[in-house]
Formats: sequence, C-alpha cells, structure tokens
Amino acid sequence: MKSVDTLITHARLLTMEGPGVGYMPDGAVAIKGDTIEAAGPSEELQRQYTAQRYLDAAGDIILPGFIDAHIHTGLALLRGTAQDMEHWMQLGIWPFRRHLSEGAAALGALVNIMEAMKAGTTTFCDYNSGMNQILPHYEQLGARVRAAETIHSLPADLGPLEPGELYPLNDTVGAERLEANAALYDQWHGRWNDRITVMFGPQGPDLIGKELLLETAHEARQRGAGLHMHVAQGDREMEQMEKRWGCRSPQYLDQLGLLGPDLMAVHLTEASASETELIARSGASMIYCAGSIGIIDGLVPPIAAFLDAGGRAALGSDQVPGNNCASMFNEMKLTALFNKIKQGRPQAFPAWKVLRLATIEGAEAIGLADTIGSVKPGKRADLIALDADAPTLNPVLEGPVRNIVPNIVYSARGSEVRWSMVDGDMIVEHGQITGADEKKAIKAAQAAAEACAAAAVDDLRESPLKKWTEQGYL
Ligand SMILES: [Zn+2]
Repeated sequence: MKSVDTLITHARLLTMEGPGVGYMPDGAVAIKGDTIEAAGPSEELQRQYTAQRYLDAAGDIILPGFIDAHIHTGLALLRGTAQDMEHWMQLGIWPFRRHLSEGAAALGALVNIMEAMKAGTTTFCDYNSGMNQILPHYEQLGARVRAAETIHSLPADLGPLEPGELYPLNDTVGAERLEANAALYDQWHGRWNDRITVMFGPQGPDLIGKELLLETAHEARQRGAGLHMHVAQGDREMEQMEKRWGCRSPQYLDQLGLLGPDLMAVHLTEASASETELIARSGASMIYCAGSIGIIDGLVPPIAAFLDAGGRAALGSDQVPGNNCASMFNEMKLTALFNKIKQGRPQAFPAWKVLRLATIEGAEAIGLADTIGSVKPGKRADLIALDADAPTLNPVLEGPVRNIVPNIVYSARGSEVRWSMVDGDMIVEHGQITGADEKKAIKAAQAAAEACAAAAVDDLRESPLKKWTEQGYL
C-alpha cells in the first residue's frame, strides 16, 4: 500500500480528460502534497492507497476547479453602476474610477475573489492597476492567480471625454505602469509554489503608445512571461486605432510581431472573420467574456469562428460593473445560450463544450495545461466538489441519458459548491471561505464604495444611471 495525504472516494468524477468530460461513476482521487497521484475507480484506489485524510464524496460531483481567464477584481466596488448604457467606459466607469484609490480597489477585490471562489473558481487571471495590493488577498485566500498590471498611458487627471475624442496618451505614465508590472513580476512571480504567477498586461493597443507597447512585449518575452491584453474590444478601440495609427488592432499587432502563442487576446468583439482567423492561426488564445460583452456592448464576440479556425479559448467574467457577477456558472450558461441564439441552432455550444472551456481548454488557453484543468496524475490538486443533492442538480441520472453536465452548466448557480481545493489545500469548506472573514471584508468594501460614490457626484452629471436614479427607475 502506498501512502498519500488525501484519498477522495465514491465521487461522481468528471476528470475532463480525453475528448469529452472523462466521467467515472464511482471515482477516486489520491493526492500527495500539492499533486494528484492517481485517479480511477474507488475500489482500485482503496486497494492501492492509505491516506492521512479520507474524504467520502458519495453524493458529490468532483471536477477540476474553474478557470476565470479574465477578471478585473479591482473594479468590484463599482458593481451595478455602469450597465444598460452606451459609452460604458466614458460615462459609466471613468467618473468613478478617478476617485477609486488602489487601496479602496483592493478592498473590493477581496470580496470579488471570495464571491468567485464560492462559485467554484480556483484560478484567476486577474488584471488591474495596483495588483501589488491585491495579490496579498490571493495569498490569504489561497486561490491560484495569474496576475497582470494594466499598463496604459492615460493621464491620471483625465477628465470626461466626448465619445469619439482621441484619448491623450502620456507614455511617462505608461512607463511607470510598465515598471510597476516588472516590479510585480520580480516580487511575486513563482511565489507560493507557483500558485502566483505574473504576466504583462498592456490594457489595449489603443491605450498605450507604440514604442511602449513594444517595450512591454520585450520585457515580457525576456522573462518568458505572456501578455494579457484587450484586443478589438469595441468600436471605441477600433475608432481610436484608425484615427491614431491608421489601421485596426489585429493588423497593427500583426505588424508589430505581437500575435503569437504568448498572447492572451481578450474579447475580439470587433474582429472581422479574417481578423479572427488571423489571430487564431497565430497561436494567440482568445478569452471570451459572454456576460460582460453582452451587457456592455449587446454583442456576441466571434468565439465560434475562433474555435473553428483551430484557436484555443477560455472564458472570463471580466468585471462586475458590467456583467454583473463573477461566477463561471453564469459564464458557461451565457456562452452556450448566446451562441445558440446567435447561430439559431440549439446544437451550438453544447454543455460539455462550455465545461471544457471553463476547465481543460481554458488551462490550455492561459498556458497552464501542464499544471491544472483536468484530474490527471502529475497535475496540481485543484478540485471542486458540487452537492449532487442540491435542488438545482436533482435528479441525477446515470443513464440511459446522463444529465450531470447539462445540469451543471444550465441549472447550477454556484451555491452547490461544497468545497474547493487548490494544491490540495481546502480554500472553501462547507461552502465557506476558509482564509478570511467574509463579513468583515464586505463591511470594509461597502464603506469604500460609498466614499467613492460620494466623491464622484460631480463627474456623474452625464450618467444616464444618475438620471434613472433621480427618476425612480433604479
Ligand atoms: Zn477586461
């Protein structure tokens, strides 16, 4: 008998290995340290292993933790303040953003990370300014994070801009932000047994000068770090690109040699068919944020075409001022629904496909497929357990039609998460965060959000939501 730290038995196990979901009806997982030692039938693993800790998962569905491949946790204090409007960034976000200190943003991030963890997210690709104040929260809560600092050249005193007006770019500001990203990398990359890794995060080709973008890519490549960047994220970006550089974002990035496997290209909302194919063929991955782009732009980005062209893709929740939540259950369901509606075909984006995008294919798209995304010996033990007896997952049928995956994607909401582990450590237990006081964090975030809103009053003169509030619609 070999000895391991944890032996999970009698689970309905979705390994996400192979072409489908790799289902095992009475599955077991043996974990040694931070790593999956074995996965297989309970009877077999019980014969082979003794353990320090036994977890009887009868009644649970066990699967790899979800990957949220694009999230700005630092915007969480603005939840519910910037949807249902045109010019989301100019009229919705910027009036508040000017009054949001990095310290306050980090208070919102703490709550946002907890929210996502309680709904089964174990890996976050978090993308903010002031990440050095947010990463300690990850360290405290135990979730896996691939962090990037947003590098942009927008001056701090940027006032309200007319939609369509060319933004002023100040590359002194950009250089400081690049320096902050490099410092973040040096301080945090590889910490905690690689649970924290750092990428470089140019905020978008329209929000940074050409030289600085090239310098950012150079700094990233020198370190073997990837780029996390919004690309073709809206007509606003394309208008800015054509006005400033005379071409659209995909061609611009192609000319600069920045399309390639080390790029995570977020959104691609405005990418044409040929641009989508160009990016997919380059090896860059696409991050699709169904809820966010649905609410902000009323659009469905070309993820189907991107996958058809052989591209790798993952799902992201983006940010709560336009989504308005951080749950991969929400993203999976919206991904399936929006693409079915767009194509007018119920066969499009079946449940198993979106579950793969949130797990194994997502891991490939963010460059962590060797580490996470499936239940496979040698990978890290990042697992979640869903309560199969929850009303939303009931009834569970094993055959002749198995309904477990459709129930997870179309019916579950997140409250079914019984526990969640990263590197074999429990980060959610009995549905509750283990590493921090949730009530205390919510109270601090509430106070910070109220202060930010009070400071933003004058800047919100043009906000349609302010008018709706006064008219009694909100
Ligand atoms: Zn974003």
